[in-house]
Amino acid sequence: MTETLTLPSQTDARRTPRIPVAVLGATGSVGQRFVQLLAAHPWFRLHEVVASQRSSGKSYGEAADWRLDTLLPADAAALEVKPLGSDLESRLVFSGLDSSVAGEAEDDYANRGCVVVSNSRNHRMDPDVPLLIPEVNAEHLEAIERQRKRRGSSGYIVTNPNCSTIGLTLAIAPIERRFGIDQMHVTTMQAISGAGYAGVSSYAILDNVIPFIGGGEEEKIETEPRKILGRWENGRFVDAPFRISAQVNRVPTIDGHLMTISMKLREGSADLSKICDAIRSFTGEPQRLALPSAPKQPIHYANEPDRPQPRLDRDREHGMAVTVGRLRPCPLLDIRMVALVHNTIRGAAGAALLNAELLEAKGML
Ligand code: NAP
Repeated sequence: MTETLTLPSQTDARRTPRIPVAVLGATGSVGQRFVQLLAAHPWFRLHEVVASQRSSGKSYGEAADWRLDTLLPADAAALEVKPLGSDLESRLVFSGLDSSVAGEAEDDYANRGCVVVSNSRNHRMDPDVPLLIPEVNAEHLEAIERQRKRRGSSGYIVTNPNCSTIGLTLAIAPIERRFGIDQMHVTTMQAISGAGYAGVSSYAILDNVIPFIGGGEEEKIETEPRKILGRWENGRFVDAPFRISAQVNRVPTIDGHLMTISMKLREGSADLSKICDAIRSFTGEPQRLALPSAPKQPIHYANEPDRPQPRLDRDREHGMAVTVGRLRPCPLLDIRMVALVHNTIRGAAGAALLNAELLEAKGML
């Protein structure tokens, strides 16, 4: 089941077996990103693809309406799509399943002994499931032992946050850690790829902005950062104490969620240049461990007065870096700024790959 390849980044030309993986929901918007990013992944190899009854039995090339701007990899196109629930040969399973089915299916695979690295919202707030951004809360992996005990299985689930939450939380993490946040208001302008492939109709979104996103989007942005920036203590997650108010909008960009953020700091206003330094110098476990998908610098600061912009900044560090700009005083709260995240890469499939790389580097696969 494993093959060998030479890692291009390894100067000693060490040969390493690639771990076979399955992707659940492989035909969707996030699933296609998984397939694209796995094609050149040095540690993981796409071995199985899973989707609904509509797709199963077909080749992936037939079932997936490929929408990415790189060609569908030939190896992936030839894989037969398996139905959800079927036995898998891969222990590592990425999930880009629709949330209507993800909850039960991910539990089922974890109980069967799989390591499920999920994008879906269903298990994010479970009391023993890490909601992981490796640069921010790698220590939350401690919750996995408790989860394994509950399941009576060696399998477990790790989740990545909502696509806007990842951008927001990475952008504010250095500020929360150094200066403390008391409360914040965030307004998002979210790209249409975030709505999934069936998504928003062109008639609804072109020449328009829709000030609503279903599925509890605002609630996710108001709650998930508190779990991520909180602590795992005495066998439970303790949320960070700050409060968030979120307003979300769907806008007619393809990829890249932009957000404007105003914050009140716990100790009153801070020196903007110190905040900027904290943002620029922020790194974590992925950078220390030199994980393959890790951006060298997780947060870029853009000095130009009209940046970040989705089209110009979403692909920084292959879509894995968040860009922050326009840091300035806020006349109501203390500071305000703008942040941008590539929603299907750092906000979804790329985030899940980084999570799995962290698990592998920590010997947890
Ligand atoms: P999507 O484009 O609608 O894709 C959904 C996938 O789920 C498809 O592969 C679909 O297979 C499969 N599926 C649907 N119903 C199924 C069923 N009854 N049984 C088995 N498979 C089924 O959605 P998406 O945007 O990729 O999102 C996937 C998940 O990631 C969601 O939970 C979403 O909330 C989350 N997420 C999305 C983003 C983003 O930017 N798009 C970011 C972060 C998280 P068929 O093609 O066979 O129907």
